[in-house]
Amino acid sequence: PEAITVQELAQRMAEKAPAVIKALMGMGVMATINQTLDQDTAQLVVEEFGHKVKRVSEADVEEGLIGDEDDAGDLRSRAPVVTVMGHVDHGKTSLLDALRKTDVVAGEAGGITQHIGAYQVQLGDGNKITFLDTPGHEAFTQMRQRGAGVTDIVVLVVAADDGIMPQTVEAINHAKAAEVPIIVAINKIDKPGADPTRVRNELLQHELVVEAMGGDIQDVEVSALQGTNLDKLEEAILLQSELLELKANPDRNADGVVIEAKLERGRGPVASLLVRRGTLKVGDVFVAGAEWGRVRALVDERGQQLKSAGPAQPVEVLGLQGTPSAGDDFAVVENEARAREIHEYRQEKLRSKRTTAAPASLESMFSAIR
Ligand code: GDP
Ligand code: MG
Repeated sequence: PEAITVQELAQRMAEKAPAVIKALMGMGVMATINQTLDQDTAQLVVEEFGHKVKRVSEADVEEGLIGDEDDAGDLRSRAPVVTVMGHVDHGKTSLLDALRKTDVVAGEAGGITQHIGAYQVQLGDGNKITFLDTPGHEAFTQMRQRGAGVTDIVVLVVAADDGIMPQTVEAINHAKAAEVPIIVAINKIDKPGADPTRVRNELLQHELVVEAMGGDIQDVEVSALQGTNLDKLEEAILLQSELLELKANPDRNADGVVIEAKLERGRGPVASLLVRRGTLKVGDVFVAGAEWGRVRALVDERGQQLKSAGPAQPVEVLGLQGTPSAGDDFAVVENEARAREIHEYRQEKLRSKRTTAAPASLESMFSAIR
């Protein structure tokens, strides 16, 4: 049942088709490029080329992608990845905008101008913090459901004039479920009705005990509108990140997560990637979900072209053959043949998933007609 054409076989081995045809001839098989070979013949050809026969399975794919664990000695500190959550209108977008402006390299490079799903600020002391700039619980939960736990720290925004609201509680629950530490940003302290103490008391009801009350939750009073205490909030994030001992090996093939992806006119499929470990370079061949590509260009949130991107660095990548989904993992692989192999395997899996899902949707269609 597992037939393969001469061309496909050549591609998978990263060999030229005429070379495969020649090898077949040597085995007494006259074949054309589009001819289908049975599994035994294919296996003989593969061995003839000195490749190992590998049957693709999900475990194999995952194992190949995950690769070896890093030696402790290769690990370097990396920037924390932060998600801002909180109730609607409590100031998530305003806070992300205000934090963006604290970037010290903004002046020279023209500032953070592009939306690529995340941005990294460099602080005066050289420390860096990565912010996912798609606030909202859905994105966070979706990523987590796909096993993409990219967030190290949640900044919970609570408006001091409004206190804990339903979506605040939701955010607390999401962070707890993901076992991600929370820092509370008590926002809008410039407003006349601001009551930060009330916020701290309300937090108690959700088992969040701030440091002033003897707990270990950091809280910072801020005003996103006036830019008050943003440095204190960033200090709190860095302190938390030190406690977490966030580290990654920058000297390996990159892997990480797709934070956004879309098809752009004139640019083709574009994905924003967050590197988890390793360094992504121009020219690298990679898989992202069921898609693959070769890195043609890397662009950061300042619109600058990069040659490479390291751990916790968000970057926009061009050169994909298709558009992956947010939350998909990506990983650099050894060559195009391997990338195509994983791509085909995962596309096939997606197809079979869709086919098995069909009866259910047909059924609901019928009940809708009835
Ligand atoms: P989001 O829904 O959580 O993203 O909230 P926004 O950032 O859109 O803010 C909602 C409203 O609150 C906007 O009108 C903001 O200008 C305002 N706002 C946000 N932060 C502050 C603040 O620190 N002080 C005051 N006075 N208003 C703020
Ligand atoms: Mg908003």
